[in-house]
Amino acid sequence: MILIKSPIQIKKMKAAGRVLALLLDELEAMIAPGISTHELDAFADSFIRKHGGRAAFKGYTIPGLPPFPGSICASVNDGIVHGIPSRKTILAEGDIIGVDVGIELDGYYSDTARTYKVGSVSEAASKLLDVTNQALYIGIDAARAGKRVGDISHAIESFVRASGFYCADDLTGHGIGKALHEEPMVPNVGMPDRGPRLKEGMTIAIEPMVNIGTNRVIEKGWEFFTADQSLSAHFEHSILITANEAEILSCAGGI
Ligand code: MG
Repeated sequence: MILIKSPIQIKKMKAAGRVLALLLDELEAMIAPGISTHELDAFADSFIRKHGGRAAFKGYTIPGLPPFPGSICASVNDGIVHGIPSRKTILAEGDIIGVDVGIELDGYYSDTARTYKVGSVSEAASKLLDVTNQALYIGIDAARAGKRVGDISHAIESFVRASGFYCADDLTGHGIGKALHEEPMVPNVGMPDRGPRLKEGMTIAIEPMVNIGTNRVIEKGWEFFTADQSLSAHFEHSILITANEAEILSCAGGI
């Protein structure tokens, strides 16, 4: 069942999203050659606690895997998503790093992701980040009451393909709010006018994951990588469906 949120629930989701937006800005200032993904994770965990929240990914379980150990997912270069933060993963000049983070605050969830440049990066990496970020906003623009989930998927897929890149297989966005993952699934590829109908008050996380060289993915435990080791980027926002343009809930202007 797809839940419709009340104005009070939306307000709580905005408060949660605001903490994440502030956190991603703080991380941007920290990301530089020489820092480990463990340091970013430790900072994120304490930042979330300081704001009264709980890191929603930490301890998250799915069948067949140990609980996720990080407060953020930190996916470097060919890492697509769910990268486990580590003291051994030290960022280097020219890397790209996707940081995905979820929070639970006052019973409500928010989920967001951004991919950062470490120092200066290749032209291809820079284009990948631009295209993936634009794909997110194109998906958000397609997410309106009366449209269907497939319209979001199709908008993202068409733009990514026209840009010469690939949406990663099997990985999707999702409903969010009372839980980190709610219905519906929000794929990054699909047909227009298919899937569940969007209604005012629905809250979903849209999250294009875009690879330079292939749509194929390799799964190693929690972590997903591109099958050809080409670079991958990830941007995500939690949004509210309205009659017009969707409202971004994971932004610093929330509340
Ligand atoms: Mg998500």
